[in-house]
Amino acid sequence: MDRFDYTALPARIVFGPGTLERTADEVHRLGRSRVLLLAGPDLAAHGERLEKVLGPLLAGRFDGAAMHTPVEVTGRAIEELRRVDADCVVAVGGGSTTGLAKALAARTGVDQVILPTTYAGSEVTPVLGETSDGVKTTRSDPAILPETVIYDVELSAGLPQAIAVTSAANAMAHAIEALYSPQANPIIDGMALDAVELLADGLRALANGVDDLDVRSRLLRGAWLAGTCLGSVGMGLHHKLCHTLGGSFDLPHSPTHAVVLPHAMAYNAAAVPEVMDRIAVRLHTTDAPAASYDLVAAAGGPTSLDAIGMPADELDRAAELATATPYPNPAPVTRDGVRALLDDAQHGRRPASDPTLTASVGRLTGQVIRSFDAGDRPRLAGLARDLVRRLHGFALDNDLTQQEWQAGIDFLTRAGHITTDTRQEFILLSDTLGLSSVVDVLTNSRTPDGTSSAVLGPFYVEGPPELPQGADLSAGLPGVPLWADVTVTDPDGRPLPEAVVDVWQANQDGFYDVQLPDLDSPVLRGRLRTDGDGRLRFRSILPSEYPIPSDGPVGDLLTATGRHMFRAPHLHFLIAAPGHRELITQLFVKGGKYLDSDAVFGVKEDLVVDFAPRSGPMPDGTEVGGEWRELSFTFRVQPIQ
Ligand code: NAD
Repeated sequence: MDRFDYTALPARIVFGPGTLERTADEVHRLGRSRVLLLAGPDLAAHGERLEKVLGPLLAGRFDGAAMHTPVEVTGRAIEELRRVDADCVVAVGGGSTTGLAKALAARTGVDQVILPTTYAGSEVTPVLGETSDGVKTTRSDPAILPETVIYDVELSAGLPQAIAVTSAANAMAHAIEALYSPQANPIIDGMALDAVELLADGLRALANGVDDLDVRSRLLRGAWLAGTCLGSVGMGLHHKLCHTLGGSFDLPHSPTHAVVLPHAMAYNAAAVPEVMDRIAVRLHTTDAPAASYDLVAAAGGPTSLDAIGMPADELDRAAELATATPYPNPAPVTRDGVRALLDDAQHGRRPASDPTLTASVGRLTGQVIRSFDAGDRPRLAGLARDLVRRLHGFALDNDLTQQEWQAGIDFLTRAGHITTDTRQEFILLSDTLGLSSVVDVLTNSRTPDGTSSAVLGPFYVEGPPELPQGADLSAGLPGVPLWADVTVTDPDGRPLPEAVVDVWQANQDGFYDVQLPDLDSPVLRGRLRTDGDGRLRFRSILPSEYPIPSDGPVGDLLTATGRHMFRAPHLHFLIAAPGHRELITQLFVKGGKYLDSDAVFGVKEDLVVDFAPRSGPMPDGTEVGGEWRELSFTFRVQPIQ
């Protein structure tokens, strides 16, 4: 039975690109009229923009915020605050600038409007850390919590990638430690897991060289949620260690978090396996500590304490300091345990259940990778090397057992045995794993002005029967009659005559002809040609949703993992117009079932089209005696460059 205490923190959040422009409104909303503006180091330009936005509200400006909120700096800022008689601070910058705003609020009661430019999360916590004579102390008070936070995505977009990566890892640490906090509760758990997913998405994007407002927006939303977790529940070993390393050894704040996090997670993993499982699901992995290491490493972040300036001969003292006073943590905090953790972090070892195993697998992987060096086909060798690296990593990360490996081999063997000229289990496997759609995107989505492509699917048969314009593909099979009137043009709308168009589809029960043993000749498939106007008309029946073949190993896999087998209803087209690139695509019936959960991930928005209900005779005069459907569509195909 759930049992928990939860106090919601009363901050107002304004989120979105360009929200800096709303700063003056937010100050008015608080009933304040004299602003002391704090702009963080390196952020003078943002300060200038804010000066303009604040206009007559601006009473003064102070740009001297420093890491860990030194009290001398706070003293100077208070003098300025009093001199200009400010009743509100507006702060733009990272955790350091927010810290100064909080220090002013804690001493004078001024309201705070914070515009964060990093992912530190301080802006949504009632916690203030300050340093005096080199000693950092922390206190928590509801009065410290900023009244308003303006998350302007464009401000965080200016954060250099190197800082963005470590800052996102800093935020990730808040979310992760919230999940095993003694004060953990379902509300914060939900926020923490969402934060983990958003931050991991953002880090992955940065690692892949994708860095746009959308990516920064996800990171910033993750940072807000993670900061809220930090402000709401107590943290554990990770935060204590980072506090010690930053406070006593002057290590930089967010890089320290980025290095320590995977090791603190590994330290606690055995004590809270269910928490690690929940995190692993959001990271799309089975090994949460290793995955958090990989995320930072792949995005170019630091992975060792050594690299961020920790002296190796201070590890003993760091372990002493971090274990001097007891604090809550899932796994018991021992001096030896923390010393071993610090050693791993110092050397940047990837957390693994067994480092010796990791090293031997690493040696083996290296050998196999080098074995591809001799040939003269560099692309093939490169693909083989990367495949080996990922396969070995897959086995290692998942601690693959001999039985599981054998089950995989059996699976592929069965896929081979069931595959024939008309049944392709390997394509089905690729389709249901989404790989076909990935390759399709890579191949066909680089030119946006043509009709989207879609996967070929396993039921295409080479050399379909040639049919004349106006032919009936259904050969009298039962179903809702369909009249198709399609045109093939180039991207500028010029019609393309003599385009060869292969069409194929399932019958009303969801079967393709090749799945029906009693048929003598192909049905519901054919090869037609566009006329002089690029037009093509044919009759058929309305396609219905259908299950992919489930009697093979792919069907077993979907059943075992609780996935359904259905494809959204669609017609297949393969279009080859002279001088133009081949287009393989599908048209989906608007309003049909499974459009949002197609078993092979083939649905694209522009391919979902009306199959409009009609009555009366069809355009070719055929009387169908009831409702029929009409499909009108123009395919735009790309010229061969
Ligand atoms: P930071 O504020 O010092 O910023 C890091 C660096 O990034 C600085 O050099 C800064 O000038 C630069 N920077 C920030 N935004 C930029 C931008 N948009 N473009 C270019 N450069 C930019 O560091 P941080 O990691 O944000 O915050 C760390 C501080 O915050 C520490 O003192 C830490 O203790 C504190 N903190 C407090 C809490 C809390 O709840 N009290 C929570 C998290 C962090």
